[in-house]
Amino acid sequence: MKVIHIAEEMQQTAEALRLSGKILALVPTMGFFHEGHLELMRVAKRHADVVIISIFVNPTQFGPKEDLNTYPRDLEGDLLKADQVGVDLAFVPSVPSMYPESFQTKVSVERATKHLCGISRPAHFDGVTTVVAKLFNIAKPHIAVFGQKDFQQLTVVSRMVQDLNMDVRMVGVPTVREPDGLAMSSRNSFLNPEERKSALCLKRSLDLARDLVARGEFQAGPLIKAVKELILGCPFTEIDYVNLCHPVSMEDVERVEGETLLALAVRVGKTRLIDNCLLSRDVKN
Ligand code: AMP
Repeated sequence: MKVIHIAEEMQQTAEALRLSGKILALVPTMGFFHEGHLELMRVAKRHADVVIISIFVNPTQFGPKEDLNTYPRDLEGDLLKADQVGVDLAFVPSVPSMYPESFQTKVSVERATKHLCGISRPAHFDGVTTVVAKLFNIAKPHIAVFGQKDFQQLTVVSRMVQDLNMDVRMVGVPTVREPDGLAMSSRNSFLNPEERKSALCLKRSLDLARDLVARGEFQAGPLIKAVKELILGCPFTEIDYVNLCHPVSMEDVERVEGETLLALAVRVGKTRLIDNCLLSRDVKN
C-alpha cells in the first residue's frame, strides 16, 4: 500500500489511474480503525479496481467543546490494518495542507443538516461536506463508501453529491457491531467497563422499537417514549435525541410509514454515541 501525504501527488496518481481505465473507490475516515472501517474497505474492493482510503481527523467538523484533541489516533496501526485488507493507496494529509491560512470556502447542505446531530453540533455537517468535497476533488473516486452508522452523514453527503452533480456513486454499508450489539465506533475506546455495559442500551432500545413495530405500534410518540425509558433506565446515560424521521429529508414523522429512520444520540458518561435503524411496517423480526 502506498501512502501519500500531498494533495497534488494524490490527484496526479488518481488521474493517471483513471486514464488507465481503473475504477477508483474512496473510503474517507478519521482513522483508529475497527472492523466497521475495514468492512467499508472490503466493500470498496468489491466495487472498484483501486481502493483509496483517507485518514484525516478533520478539525472543522468538531465543535469548540468537542473531543478533537483527545480523538483516538493510531496511524501506524491503521496503515497496517488497511494494508492487510488490500487497500492500494492511503491519503494522509496534514491539517495545514488541507486548510492553509488562505482557505475560505464552505460547502453547506441546508435542510437535512438542521435535524438530529445538526442541532447539538451546528457546524458539524458543514465541516463534513466541505472536507468530503475536497477529498473527492483530490482522490477523484468513481465510488465513495460510507457507513450507515452515521446515517445522517451518508444522507447529507448524498444530497451534496446530487445537488452539485458530483460524478461519484455513493455506497452505504450497514452498521458493523460488536458481538453483543454495540455499534463499533472509535469513540467506544473512551468508555470505561461500566459505561461500556450501559452503552448496550442503544442497540437494545432499537431492538425494542423493532419489536413494538412488529407488534403493530407505528406511532412516533409511544415508540420514542419506550426507547427513551429503556435508555434512561441504564446508568450514566443522558439522551441528546431520539427521533423518528424520514431517511432522506431527516424531518420528524408522526408514524412509521415506508422506510422510517429511528435515530438516537446518547451520552454515556462523557462519551456521545449514536446509533440508528430503519423501521418499516412489513419487516417482522
Ligand atoms: P469515522 O472514522 O468514524 O469518521 O468513520 C469513517 C467511516 O466509517 C464513515 O463512513 C462511518 O460511517 C463508517 N463507520 C464508522 N463506524 C462504523 C460501523 N460500526 N459500521 C459501519 N461503518 C462505520
